[in-house]
Amino acid sequence: MRAEIIAIGSELVSGQGLDTNSPWLSQQLGALGIPVAFHTTLGDDLEDHRSAFRAAIDRADLVIMTGGLGPTQDDLTREALAEVAGVPLVEDLASLEAIAAMFARRHRVMTERNRVQALFPRGAEPLPNPIGTAPGIWMRLGRATIACLPGVPSEMKRMFQEQVLPRLRELGAAGRVIVHRKINLFGKGESEIEAQAMDLTVRGRVPEVGITAHDATISFRITAEAATADEARRLIEPTAELIYERFGSLVVGEDSDDVAEALVAQLTRTGSTLATAESCTGGLIAQLITAIAGVSSAYLGGAVTYSNASKTALLGVPAELIAACGAVSPEVAAAMAEGARTRLGASLGISTTGVAGPTGGTPEKPVGLVYLGLSTADGTQTRRLDMGPERPRDFIQLLASKAALNWARLALLGER
Ligand code: AMP
Ligand code: MG
Repeated sequence: MRAEIIAIGSELVSGQGLDTNSPWLSQQLGALGIPVAFHTTLGDDLEDHRSAFRAAIDRADLVIMTGGLGPTQDDLTREALAEVAGVPLVEDLASLEAIAAMFARRHRVMTERNRVQALFPRGAEPLPNPIGTAPGIWMRLGRATIACLPGVPSEMKRMFQEQVLPRLRELGAAGRVIVHRKINLFGKGESEIEAQAMDLTVRGRVPEVGITAHDATISFRITAEAATADEARRLIEPTAELIYERFGSLVVGEDSDDVAEALVAQLTRTGSTLATAESCTGGLIAQLITAIAGVSSAYLGGAVTYSNASKTALLGVPAELIAACGAVSPEVAAAMAEGARTRLGASLGISTTGVAGPTGGTPEKPVGLVYLGLSTADGTQTRRLDMGPERPRDFIQLLASKAALNWARLALLGER
């Protein structure tokens, strides 16, 4: 069985509104073991409804639609369904009474147009809506099963769970479960990582492995299908172990865990403390760390030293050093990291100084050049990042921040 989701509403195709119903429904169906093959989005136009519905019942076994069930002229789902089915619309008395009762409870007048919401293609089954006026529709059309739900996300979700889910189980459609596991890596590019994982990402492998990249964090997504969630997790386990073994310290965590979480885990494990000195990242490192609850024992604090004078005043970077080497230099990165560490009494100090752009680059110090500093009791080192002048400012800042966090993490792992 494969499914299609149709999101209806002119606001969705015009870009005025975001279709959040389709991804939610896809996740629900995926968890039931029903793969979704198509997402279709269309505006409030009758001919477009007809052609989209015909295409869907031709290529999918299950079609779930949201939107277009309201009482107004632009709500066309009912009418189009009846036309495609070749049946008339007939009034359902129980639905009409439920709609009237809803208006009475809310002390609102029911207009003649609201009667439209009690009309159903002949042979269809109404799906009661406990929190709104528009009932849904359940019917067979051609070889496909159709479920129409309201567009309002809260009503759609409740009706999916209360009305659609039990019917899918009854059909025997919702037999198997799909489980995903996401393992995040940082420190190498997507293609470099994929080159080391060709045997895993090959199509048709069980369990399936995909690679995605988000803000320079590369994720392996392992997917398995089985009769139970436990069985699917067992199928995933050997592949997850293989990824951990092969990629070692490149792995930073699972699900939403990224380099900051991984560093905090290492700080906690080793009983170390961290101080930060940020220029071009403007406090982003501090933000990434303090976004994690409970880090106060590991993160002592830091300074955002954007001007030369503040590097001297807050971190003790000698003004002569800045004058001689420039603020964007390995010497200043080192002095910043050391200043933060010693002034705050931390075990580690990390720093950033660079050119985030888009202006301010020179041939010697182009946009995208960032020096990182890492200071411990054993000494202070620096590293140069060249991210490229074409990168947007926010990406340069984020990548520099994550690279600094990752360097501190690896230092605590004893790797460099
Ligand atoms: P409708 O059922 O078409 O009258 O939609 C009612 C309201 O639900 C719309 O005005 C939107 O605010 C919202 N809505 C409709 N479709 C979607 C969708 N696919 N995703 C998120 N919200 C939606
Ligand atoms: Mg609409």
